Amino acid sequence: MPADRLPRCAALIVAAGRGQRFGGSQPKQYAPLKGEALLRRTLRAFCTHPRISQVVVAIHPDDASTFAAVAEGLPNVRAVHGGAQRQDSVRLGLEALAAQSPDLVLIHDGARPMISADLIDRVITGLNEAPGVIPALTVVDTLKRVNANTIGETVSRDNLVRAQTPQGFRFAEILSAHQAVAGEALTDDAAVMERSGHRVITVPGDEANIKVTTMDDLARLTESLTETRIGQGFDVHKFGPGDSVWLCGVNVPHTHGLVGHSDADVALHAATDAILGAVGAGDIGQHFPPSDEKWRGAPSYKFIQHAHDLLKQRGGTLVHLDVTIICERPKVGPHRTALVASVAKILGIAEDRVSVKATTTEGLGFTGRQEGIAAQAVATVRI
Ligand code: MG
Repeated sequence: MPADRLPRCAALIVAAGRGQRFGGSQPKQYAPLKGEALLRRTLRAFCTHPRISQVVVAIHPDDASTFAAVAEGLPNVRAVHGGAQRQDSVRLGLEALAAQSPDLVLIHDGARPMISADLIDRVITGLNEAPGVIPALTVVDTLKRVNANTIGETVSRDNLVRAQTPQGFRFAEILSAHQAVAGEALTDDAAVMERSGHRVITVPGDEANIKVTTMDDLARLTESLTETRIGQGFDVHKFGPGDSVWLCGVNVPHTHGLVGHSDADVALHAATDAILGAVGAGDIGQHFPPSDEKWRGAPSYKFIQHAHDLLKQRGGTLVHLDVTIICERPKVGPHRTALVASVAKILGIAEDRVSVKATTTEGLGFTGRQEGIAAQAVATVRI
């Protein structure tokens, strides 16, 4: 490699396996993680990394069209057909890269989607020191060697590490090392490199960079990517002529009605804004403008169902909704159970995920003067 330029580093992603341990209708690398195939997530990390010039993916010949869909729009990536065993796929991938003669190559499992740009950097930087670099993690659990379920011996953890990918190599060395061991079954690419007598060093790995092997792995990973968000909403409607008010989708008898373009359900409006707030999807006025005749007299359950649908479309779940109604009259207490049941029914969620509270303002302010009703709501969502 000429000293006057940066090394050109390619990535080889191994994604030809059938994933026998995974089950499911498709190989694990094509299974969705929060709506995106594991493999696409993996590819994005490499295709968009500034130090990676090109990405080759070793795929199973049967997966050509699935792969094309998964890689659509990603730059600098192409597929080659892998072989029967992982080691064959790597060798074939390296041979496909040989024409471009990169200086370095990182070899990575397609089913490790949590690969970070930092770890890619660490491995590439490590290649300044040795022709082979692997990310490694310490062994925390005590290790036992067993026969069936009987312990034969306790294995010392001293000097033991767990090997991850991407494993990085100087390209010419790993290509010839793989060609030299074609047909053998070595456990990883570092072992291939070691067999050829090359020095392989470790850099710190990343616990988040897990290899998805089973459905349980995928479920845990999905859960770890879920976050809790809080949204809040507030609304006021003033009293006008009428003999009842809508609160939480329930018609509550009163000496006045509430004035509004829709049915003026102040509680559902606050709750709708709380959900929209948690999603980051604007406010109720944007989705249902008062200027639009379509919403005149509209029942407000339509508004909150729309907000809930937006949340669900984004993969979210409404964990809890807490509504506070602020007024002197009507007395909300006697209707509280019905209001909770109504909200739960409108949203199709359990009643224990809904809270409706009421308070007065001790005669103070516009609610105290019984000029109208205010409502606040807090929505907790997992997304
Ligand atoms: Mg309103």
